[in-house]
Amino acid sequence: MSLMQRYECVERVVGKACERVGRDPGEVVIVAVSKTVDLDAVHEAILAGADDFGENRPEELLRKAAAFPEKTWHFIGNIQSRKIKDIVGTADLIHSVDRMSLFDPLQRRAAALGIEQGILLEVNVSGEETKSGFAPEEVRSALRAASNCENLVVYGLMTMAPQGDLQRARETFRELRELRDTLMGEFGDTMDLQELSMGMSEDFEVAVEEGATIVRVGRSIFSEENADIYS
Ligand SMILES: *Cc1c(COP(=O)(O)O)cnc(C)c1O
Repeated sequence: MSLMQRYECVERVVGKACERVGRDPGEVVIVAVSKTVDLDAVHEAILAGADDFGENRPEELLRKAAAFPEKTWHFIGNIQSRKIKDIVGTADLIHSVDRMSLFDPLQRRAAALGIEQGILLEVNVSGEETKSGFAPEEVRSALRAASNCENLVVYGLMTMAPQGDLQRARETFRELRELRDTLMGEFGDTMDLQELSMGMSEDFEVAVEEGATIVRVGRSIFSEENADIYS
């Protein structure tokens, strides 16, 4: 199967998941996670219709965003403070803001560039020790702190589900959506937390059923081995 066919399959799976739960497929952005591939594959994905790309290393984000500046770039990786200068302004949306200590350096860099930087707060819903992110009960105070940063705009929440168990993944996604809904009730006057970035190759279908507005799909688009979703 070609990359173009795989991309179309992912679109179709998203479309069908939307249909099942009565959602408009136009609400779901597919971020093609290009972290393991080179510019030629990104180019091919663009020809297949991809507009949004995700990277988890600042150097690669810079390199690929410079090659395709007209596309939308998402940073989904661990944020080291010394790399913030490369990420802010290059990424249209930073998904992986996972601790309060990042707000100040992110804000200062965005202010220096004179831009508004879109961010998502990463939430460790499942509480696994290996996962980063705010604990669900910390998100409220994180939002309060972020709201004091003039150049940062919080568009919503991001999470990673436990691997290998779709039922647990579904519960994780549902909890993130419920947390977002609760917080919208409290912060809705000043913030629009519309985005839920959740779902990867193995679980994006379930994530869409549970309300994902952004899915981050790598292997199902870029890898020839990962064809199991097409059955
Ligand atoms: C790599 C990565 C993805 C994509 O994972 P696949 O299993 O290849 O679809 C999504 N989100 C994050 C944060 C990642 O690091």
